[in-house]
Amino acid sequence: MNTKNVYADNNATTMVAPEVKETMEPFFTNLYGNPSSMHVFGGQVKKFVDRAREQIAALIHADPAEIVFTSCGTESDNAAIRGILAAHPEKKHIITSRVEHPAVKNVFQFLEKNGYRLTELSVDRLGRIDLDELREKLDNDTALVSIMWANNETGVVFPMQEIAELVKSKGAVFHTDAVQAAGKVSIDMNTTPVDLLSLSGHKLHAPKGIGILYIRKGTHFVPFIMGGHQEGGRRAGTENVPYIVGLGKACELALDHLEENKSHIKVLRDKLEKELLQKAVDASVNGDPENRLPNTTNISFKYIEGESILMLLSEAGIAASSGSACTSGSLEPSHVLRAMGVPFTRVHGSVRFSLSRYNTDEEVSYIIENMLAIEKTLREISPFGRDELHAEQ
Ligand code: PLP
Repeated sequence: MNTKNVYADNNATTMVAPEVKETMEPFFTNLYGNPSSMHVFGGQVKKFVDRAREQIAALIHADPAEIVFTSCGTESDNAAIRGILAAHPEKKHIITSRVEHPAVKNVFQFLEKNGYRLTELSVDRLGRIDLDELREKLDNDTALVSIMWANNETGVVFPMQEIAELVKSKGAVFHTDAVQAAGKVSIDMNTTPVDLLSLSGHKLHAPKGIGILYIRKGTHFVPFIMGGHQEGGRRAGTENVPYIVGLGKACELALDHLEENKSHIKVLRDKLEKELLQKAVDASVNGDPENRLPNTTNISFKYIEGESILMLLSEAGIAASSGSACTSGSLEPSHVLRAMGVPFTRVHGSVRFSLSRYNTDEEVSYIIENMLAIEKTLREISPFGRDELHAEQ
């Protein structure tokens, strides 16, 4: 097979959908008004911002007034955490999980150094949270709990309904980082009692540099970025109109394609996973097989180096990742897999493939063929060849 480019790193970022790009274009040229301006230039743009707010609200079944535009998922996470703690200065206990993205994890660790009592919930070998541990740790001093909807490295989906209900029953505020979940699984703010939710455009075929923070009506919140009156005083700064309308269109498309995730994307992911598990010498999947994003598989190839696999995949034109794009390059073993108790011999040989609606069956076959050849090559040069592996088992 000839070398071709196959993008299987959609949890790192996604291609901007052609329809999204087309929707954005007029806002760089003719429709350049400031939506806060009273004149016609502002007014004609404002109605498109309002429309985008509705499209985004529809994806998560929220009220458009509860959607606040931000610059990215990281800002949404920071704003949620800082905004809630500033509104509840009397409470000093915060809870999160050990498998959060750095956009949450690092903020909580910073807060711990600055006087907060931090609880980081453990996960089991499948990356699942223990609801009893959460119940035990919640107390009258707990201001905020932040637990992601779905994990970026393994795709494990957390039981949001149960978590949110539990946190609310104890009187704390609940934030979820839904950056990886949005557009991949259903999110319904009508039925799930989440107070704040973060979402990022570039994970669902909108551009990088736009996100939203959902803030449930009635939630006490102190703005993280202060200045003008934009976003109902919850986030200052002139609105990034082209990106906002792009995100609106991307959310509309995501809603239209939600069912396709369960068919097309999941079928491709399952084929990739099944064939690699069957045909590789020693491969295992990391993460709960039951509750996982339909597009993600995180596979460990025991005794071989993840970085070498990624290099050879890249030479074959295949883009995958060893975990979070934000921590790759640091050569630090994944904090997510370590929290799950995955042995070092498997953590180091882990690769994440994350698909999108643009991947094809032919591309998945190409990944399988190349991945199996790469495993064979690397085992031949590994100090732990096939014989040692079999002897060791
Ligand atoms: N949260 C999760 C779970 C993510 O996967 C990411 C990006 O990888 C972020 C937050 C950060 O989003 P952004 O890149 O828009 O800042």
